[in-house]
Amino acid sequence: MKRFLKFELKQFPLLALILAINCTDKDLKNSMSDIDKHSFAIPDQAKVVHLDLNLKVDFITKTLGGYVDLLVENKTHTKQLVLDSRDLVIEKVELDGNYSKAEFKLGDSIKFLGRSLTIQIKPDTKKVKIYYHTSPMAAAIQWLDPSQTAGGKYPFMFTQSQAILARSWVPLQDGPGVKFTYNATIACPVNLMALMSAENDTVKHTDGVYHFKQTNPIPSYLMALAVGDIAFKSLGKNCGIYAEPSLLPSAAWEFANMETMIQSAEELYGKYLWGRYDLLVLPPSFPFGGMENPCLTFATPTVIAGDRSLVSLVAHELAHSWSGNLVTNATWDDFWLNEGFTVYFEHRIMEKIYGKPYVDMLCKLEFDEMKKEISVMGDANADTKLKLNLVGRDPDDGVTDIAYIKGCFFLKTIENAVGRPKWDSFVNKYFKTFAFQSITTEKFLVYLNHELIHDNNILKQKIRIDDWVYKTGIPSNCPIIESTELQKSERAAKDYIHPQKLDTKGWTTHHWLHFLRCLPSKINTTDLQKLDAKFKFTQSGNCEILCDWFQIAISNDYDIAYNAMEKYLCSVGRRKFVQPLYEKLLANPKTKATAKEIYKKARPGYHSVARATVDQLMENK
Ligand SMILES: [Zn+2]
Repeated sequence: MKRFLKFELKQFPLLALILAINCTDKDLKNSMSDIDKHSFAIPDQAKVVHLDLNLKVDFITKTLGGYVDLLVENKTHTKQLVLDSRDLVIEKVELDGNYSKAEFKLGDSIKFLGRSLTIQIKPDTKKVKIYYHTSPMAAAIQWLDPSQTAGGKYPFMFTQSQAILARSWVPLQDGPGVKFTYNATIACPVNLMALMSAENDTVKHTDGVYHFKQTNPIPSYLMALAVGDIAFKSLGKNCGIYAEPSLLPSAAWEFANMETMIQSAEELYGKYLWGRYDLLVLPPSFPFGGMENPCLTFATPTVIAGDRSLVSLVAHELAHSWSGNLVTNATWDDFWLNEGFTVYFEHRIMEKIYGKPYVDMLCKLEFDEMKKEISVMGDANADTKLKLNLVGRDPDDGVTDIAYIKGCFFLKTIENAVGRPKWDSFVNKYFKTFAFQSITTEKFLVYLNHELIHDNNILKQKIRIDDWVYKTGIPSNCPIIESTELQKSERAAKDYIHPQKLDTKGWTTHHWLHFLRCLPSKINTTDLQKLDAKFKFTQSGNCEILCDWFQIAISNDYDIAYNAMEKYLCSVGRRKFVQPLYEKLLANPKTKATAKEIYKKARPGYHSVARATVDQLMENK
């Protein structure tokens, strides 16, 4: 195992010593609260430090099959290795390559968590080999028919492991507090290309066999695999785009400034430590905007807007190479550490490249979205605290604007209180100090006080850490963002009944979204038709604008847009878009039945993550 603590101590010997002395009590407390409620593993006893994966991708049976070799650090000479699994068929287990079969037992199935896999090992066992195959229903994996791809000729598959779905395609210790390196050999049909969250080749192999190496320790939720008819285009020295061949030119144009983004990120918070940074554009059923799989971000094609207006997604996923992938939330209750830092960092990259007025637009839109979400959740809802308590629940419940936007605004509050230079040097040091480690909220707060606040009461009162982290809602000291750019949209929205007169020259996606959100909630069909005729909303190719427009259409029974909406819901599987549309359709008595009809058609094309969310909506109605 690579011992990164050594690297850290070498760079900051004094700091490490001070931390070791000063943080003992708090750290002890941390080790109690560190216990990951979403994993059966007991890494304090026996911890997996490296994986050798060997799998065959079978599109006919929709399964992955083969074996995984786990390198185990048996800290307490225990006789049991406990892993996570979900819907896996375990064929046999061997120890230390001597082909002697080891005893293993699968525990009872628990909702969201799957089943524990307990393997009898010896106190000196180093290697555990597990032969297994996945279920066609594996929650992490989506198998797409050729008709669901851009090319229409070949099938496609991809995994989405976050938060606790890695266990549905690899038996492992599936918690963000456990980090390991991995190698993999993946065999897929010839004509297709396999890619992982690791070093990747840029050309197809004639034998369909691909080898991968991830030499940095990563948590399980960053294990990722995609297989399809994929081609590559370089966008700079160490970056490029993978996509289906027909999507490649538009994707390469959209993300052409990737190298500038990497340089900007490095100038802000230190060297990029993952070798190459590439982006894989997936088919539209991908449930998220992007997934920060190391070395290879997985991204939705819905950000290819044709005007480069949605590239902040790349800044976001790139920022995760520091916040999340390098310094990782120790449990899903600490999710804001991953996402709050990443949104903050994303804004700083965007500010460096596009200027402050641009970022003010992003901030204002995001803040408004969070306010809306909180109004639905309720101000006193415990899930509006940054530190969550997700015990007994799906960690996916923590994926709200709280972690992302409240988290970011908390960090902006600290920045405002201490000043940008001090804040930036703190963040730099934070990433270096905790590189390749996982960290809890409590540990972060101890470090923050030690490095930046220094028990200064004036600063403490300015920031109000406890209110932000442990209390519900938004504290009253939250920074207020004004956007002069979005004020243009607000003025235009007031005069929406005269669309011919509106000056929308140079508007970006953000201007349009704010314009649509500032329109009155009730608009008559004639005025909607006038708006639609002038701005061609129903025919828009921009998925963000379409999502907002269709919501307006549903609220106002503007059924002229419904055909386009149905097509949209049946082709796009990004949860951020499909969820609000189904909510609106179900809330309107006239479209409730339509919601169910459309979902019946669209559901097979969604990833399990999106299906779980929409299934719940349908059940509640
Ligand atoms: Zn993120």
